[in-house]
Amino acid sequence: MSAYRPLTASGLIDTLAALPSVSAILGGNTADWGAREVSDGNLNTVFIVSGPLGSVCCKQSLPYVRVDPSWAMPLERTLFEARWMQHVSPAVGHQIPTLYHLDEGLFLIVMENLATHHVLRGALIAGLAPAGFAARIGEFVGHASFATSWRAMPFEDVHAMRDIFSRNLALTRITVDLILTDPYRRDCARNHWISPALDDLVTAIQQDSALHAAVERLQERFLSCGQALLHGDLHTGSVMICGDDVRVIDGEFALYGPIGFDLGMFTANLIMNAYAQPEHDAWMRDEIALLWSGFRHAYLERWEQSGARGDVGSLSRPTVSSAERTRFFQQVMHDCAGFAGLELVRRTIGFAQIADYEASQDREQEVEARRRALITGRALIQRAFQIDSPEALLGMI
Ligand code: ADP
Ligand code: MG
Repeated sequence: MSAYRPLTASGLIDTLAALPSVSAILGGNTADWGAREVSDGNLNTVFIVSGPLGSVCCKQSLPYVRVDPSWAMPLERTLFEARWMQHVSPAVGHQIPTLYHLDEGLFLIVMENLATHHVLRGALIAGLAPAGFAARIGEFVGHASFATSWRAMPFEDVHAMRDIFSRNLALTRITVDLILTDPYRRDCARNHWISPALDDLVTAIQQDSALHAAVERLQERFLSCGQALLHGDLHTGSVMICGDDVRVIDGEFALYGPIGFDLGMFTANLIMNAYAQPEHDAWMRDEIALLWSGFRHAYLERWEQSGARGDVGSLSRPTVSSAERTRFFQQVMHDCAGFAGLELVRRTIGFAQIADYEASQDREQEVEARRRALITGRALIQRAFQIDSPEALLGMI
C-alpha cells in the first residue's frame, strides 16, 4: 500500500504510471501526459490527467478542509466515496462516473473524466442547463435508494452495508453541525449573513423555540431513520451534466438515512436558484415536479418487480397495496419538505453558502432572494408534516 502524501501534478503522474489499466486509458507514456488541477469544492484536491488516448479524473483527500487548512479532517473520506460508488453503481449504472482505481494508502480515487460535462450549478446560473435534468436525479435517487433499502435486501445485508457507512463519522458530523445545528445557534461563529438586511430574520430563526423543536424532529429523522444509502450531499454542485447525460459525483458524505434528505437537499437548491434568478421560476417549478415524479416512478418500478428479497414487504410482494404506497411516498415527502427547509436556511446564513445568490442582478435582488429563502425555509421546517404532495410543496414556494 502506498504511503500517504498530498500529490503534486508530477507525483500523480508517477503514481498513475504504475497502474497498467489507467496507463492504457491515457495512452503514450508519462512524457505525453499532463495534469491540471480543477478543485472547486470545499474539501478535496481534484486533478484531470490527460494523455494522447484519453483522460482520467483523480480525487485525493487532504488531512484538512481544502478551503480552510486550520480545520483538520480525516483522510478516509475518499474511501467512503469509493464505497458509495461501488455500492450504488449496480443500481444506477452510468449515472455516476466509472471508478477505475482506489489507492487506500494515498486516499486517491481514479475515475472516469466527465470531460464534456459541466457542473450543474454553474450551468443553471448561466441558464445553460437543459430542461428536464431533475427527472434524471429523481430516477437516480429512486434506483439507488430502493436497491439499498430493507425492501430490496434481507436485513442481514442491510446491516452489513450500514456497518460500513456508519463509520463515516467525520462527514456525518459536518452535516449534523452545519445543516442540523449551527444556523439555529446565536453563538456560532461559522454563521455569516448580509447585515443588517437579514438581521431580523436571523434573530427570529435563532430565537424561535417552536422552530427549534421542529428542527429537533428532523435531527432525529436524520440520525435514527436509516431507510436507504443516501448520497448525503446532493446539491446542484454534486451533479455534472452534458445534454441529457446527468451524472452524480462526490458521494463522500454517503450514509444510511431518510430518503427525503437527498430529495430535500436537491429541491432546496432548485428553489434558491429560482429566488436568485426569478426568470427561472417556472422552469425550477417544473424541475421540482420532475424530480419527484422521476423518483416515484423509479422507486415504484423496482418495488413492483418480483426480484426484491427484503424482509420489509415480504407479505405483499410483488403487489404493492395502494394504502402502503400512499403512506410511504407521503412520509418521504414530509422528510423532503423538512430537509429542504434546513438546506434553504443553512445555505443562506451558514458556513457553506452558494454561488447562485451572486448571480442576482444587484444587491437588492440578492437580499430579496435570501429573505425569501429564510422565510420559505422556516415555513417548510415547521409545516413539513402537512406537506404530502409535490403540489403542496410547490404551493409553499
Ligand atoms: P469536493 O469533494 O472537494 O467537493 P468534488 O467531488 O465536488 O470535490 O469535485 C470538485 C470539482 O472537480 C467538481 O466541481 C468538478 O468540477 C470536478 N470533478 C469532480 N469529479 C469529476 C469527474 N469525474 N470528471 C470531471 N470533473 C470532475
Ligand atoms: Mg463537492
